[in-house]
Amino acid sequence: MEIREAKEGVEHTFSEQVGEQVKCPICDEVWNTDFQGDVTFGVCEHLRFFYIDQEFVEFYGDWDKDRFRADYDKIEEKMLEEGALYVIDVFKEVSSKDIDKIIYVSFDYGPMCQPFGLWGYKE
Ligand SMILES: [Zn+2]
Repeated sequence: MEIREAKEGVEHTFSEQVGEQVKCPICDEVWNTDFQGDVTFGVCEHLRFFYIDQEFVEFYGDWDKDRFRADYDKIEEKMLEEGALYVIDVFKEVSSKDIDKIIYVSFDYGPMCQPFGLWGYKE
């Protein structure tokens, strides 16, 4: 499915007052706020899942999550066998009628470690 980086200053914002935020590209609802390390979550009708640090943290709404998870696991396993595994490449290969797109933010924790936060949504 389509996956892209969150637009800086629009979908991924930072201000002294509210901290770092990730927002829904459709309705502007705040999905994730990190205010000085204090993280809070939000949800809207478009959000389908939140994924970070190699795992699905939460699924939202009423849809076939089990099937999506099974497809994801199958593709991840295949790519591991082929010797290269990039989370973004796995998500590119997965398709679901319940998810249209994914945006991600790369949190820069250092040169060797770049965890990705990903949010899947339906338009
Ligand atoms: Zn929304």
